[in-house]
Amino acid sequence: IIELGQPEHSLITTCAYCGVGCGFKAEMKGNTVVRMVPWKDGKANDGHSCVKGRFAWGYATHADRITTPMIRKKISDPWQPVSWDEAIGYAASEFKRIQAAHGKDSVGGITSSRCTNEETYLVQKLIRAAFGTNNVDTCARVCHSPTGYGLGQTFGTSAGTQTFKSVEQSDMILVIGANPSDAHPVFASRMKRRLREGAKLVVVDPRKIDLVSSPHVRAQHHLALRPGTNVAMISALAHVVVTEGLVNEAYVAERCDTKSFAEWREFVARPENSPEALEAATGVPAAEVRAAARLYAAGPNSAIYYGLGVTEHAQGSTMVIGIANLAMACGMVGREGVGVNPLRGQNNVQGSCDMGSFPHELPGYRHISDTTARNLFEAAWGVELSPEPGLRIPNMFDAAHEGSFLGLYCQGEDIVQSDPNTQHVADALSRMECIVVQDIFLNETAKYAHVFLPGSSFLEKDGTFTNAERRISRVTQAMPPLPGLADWEVTVKLSNALGYPMAYASPEQVMDEIAMLTPSFAGVSYEKIERLGSVQWPCNDSTEEAGTSIMHREKFVRGKGKFIVTQYVPSEEKVTRKYPLLLTTGRILSQYNVGAQTRRTPNNQWHDEDRLEIHPHDAEERGVRAGDWVGVESRAGHTVLRAVLSERMQPGVVYTTFHFPESGANVITTDASDWATNCPEYKVTAVQVMPVAQP
Ligand code: SF4
Repeated sequence: IIELGQPEHSLITTCAYCGVGCGFKAEMKGNTVVRMVPWKDGKANDGHSCVKGRFAWGYATHADRITTPMIRKKISDPWQPVSWDEAIGYAASEFKRIQAAHGKDSVGGITSSRCTNEETYLVQKLIRAAFGTNNVDTCARVCHSPTGYGLGQTFGTSAGTQTFKSVEQSDMILVIGANPSDAHPVFASRMKRRLREGAKLVVVDPRKIDLVSSPHVRAQHHLALRPGTNVAMISALAHVVVTEGLVNEAYVAERCDTKSFAEWREFVARPENSPEALEAATGVPAAEVRAAARLYAAGPNSAIYYGLGVTEHAQGSTMVIGIANLAMACGMVGREGVGVNPLRGQNNVQGSCDMGSFPHELPGYRHISDTTARNLFEAAWGVELSPEPGLRIPNMFDAAHEGSFLGLYCQGEDIVQSDPNTQHVADALSRMECIVVQDIFLNETAKYAHVFLPGSSFLEKDGTFTNAERRISRVTQAMPPLPGLADWEVTVKLSNALGYPMAYASPEQVMDEIAMLTPSFAGVSYEKIERLGSVQWPCNDSTEEAGTSIMHREKFVRGKGKFIVTQYVPSEEKVTRKYPLLLTTGRILSQYNVGAQTRRTPNNQWHDEDRLEIHPHDAEERGVRAGDWVGVESRAGHTVLRAVLSERMQPGVVYTTFHFPESGANVITTDASDWATNCPEYKVTAVQVMPVAQP
């Protein structure tokens, strides 16, 4: 615990870790944060917090912070500290040189879900207006891009339907592929309170996660499916609803597209989609699946919460669609206590998607081919925009391998550690001619960079974050940016150096531009956020002043909710004699994602390495004892981890986290990805595990 004396003043800001977006009071002594206290009026957290937001903020002033811009001609050269003007001038000249020789689309950028809405908006504007390309993407590519696709297709917009508080009115909660106790702890506490009051719980997860059986909460049913069989599971649940007369016919008739419903009903009723067929294929007991489906349909208010165990699959988008189908069939969208709720990972991943960070979408999820939307931005920005979608992150790597993508601006994202198949990513980066990394630490990606622009932590930022319930909250600057310039100022300078003039007096002025160009943000202003504490988009003339807590109340955003048939296709990643186990990956409470922040805080003492969870039977077969070092080999690569014997695992499935670069879990994950969005299939990797000597 870091306690640095008595505070002199305080300010309200927002946690920079997960998508719960807890409000905090930063208690200050001059420009030094003394402690972070959960804000009792924060609507996302009601005065609660977890060990990350409460204790793990000291990384902001860690000795590893880089505060001086640096350049180098070759990645084998040592870094040279330079002035801001020199670094930005060099980056701009390199991007211009590459584009002059290879065309506009030979460069691109990655926005950061750790940065504010205003900063993200400016980076995607820089890529589109100053670079003149739609080659812009964000880390949502590797987490919830299937949510964007699946909910967009079925409901008409790609965000969670509920406010967090809604769970307090749920009678039944279906958690699919999410581990909120570790990944969204404050929301997990709210959910557990409701469960202790008597709400029913079904967990769909290969692991026996904390919610399945913890001291005060016990799931009625744990459907421990094999990784990669999600779509078969959702079809089996839907089969029960359709064949046992559990469809909410009145809701479907009034709210949904009945033609698509008829096709879907005929499809899921087929015997191959029955729980018995699922049991034969995966071993999940049909009786448990039937009972779970009946509980969900009975409600009266049933809510679905899901995470990356749904999206990070080759059929991630199909599964999101399957979840939406089930919710509509049972009439569980459009009021308190129900809904379809993606638990978004990073603090501002919702915001980075809202702000137009996808190569096919302008801010507000308007497709780049939409002439009206494009004309609006062309008039406001004074440029001509291409109607063609740009490259997604994995496509950028592929194009680099082919020699057609040579320059990358990467802000606040460690793609070498976080993206799958590290060797492929690193090889792509090593082929590029100019990589600009903007970050607070020299991360793994910076090893391949030619320009390093020092970034700012959330304590140095002014702006807004948007959490998983579409809540826009203020981020308030507690101390001046250590590098001298705030991230948004760096983007403005780079744009000017590239020849596209940008001039903003403050992040507030950027938000005013966002509100002017984005209908769902039309009523958003700093004045309103500060007066009300936060607002939820859509927030405009047609909503309440604080925005919209529950989506799709009267009708779906697309009009009638659309059912889409979800045909299960088994993963191409097969177990064999050589690779007989399935590896799935996830997170742990005290660490956060690639660990760049939490590893540099006292949280590291609770969990200081990635480990491999393995069922005792699988361990015994291999002569592995608790604490032994094991080699984990896949078709993509090999790493070494310490083994933890755990009955939370089912035999045949192993699990690890990816918080530490030394163990590099993504060295062994593969290139397989979602058919619609290219979200990587992190959750299904065939591996072998064998004892090895200590590395
Ligand atoms: Fe921060 Fe998430 Fe923990 Fe809240 S639950 S304190 S947002 S990490």
